[in-house]
Amino acid sequence: MPQKVICDNCGKVLYDHSDLKSPADIIKKFEGLCPQCGNKLIFDPEKIEIKSL
Ligand SMILES: [Zn+2]
Repeated sequence: MPQKVICDNCGKVLYDHSDLKSPADIIKKFEGLCPQCGNKLIFDPEKIEIKSL
């Protein structure tokens, strides 16, 4: 099932893939910052949207 991680600040899709990855790993991959707006990524359901499509 596809998984999406979206930056809460600018709406950039940080991760959109069918592999299930832990949000912490995805955040680590971006070194904790959104590459588009520099928003600090925190694994918080209110800050990062994870959707199963
Ligand atoms: Zn952003």
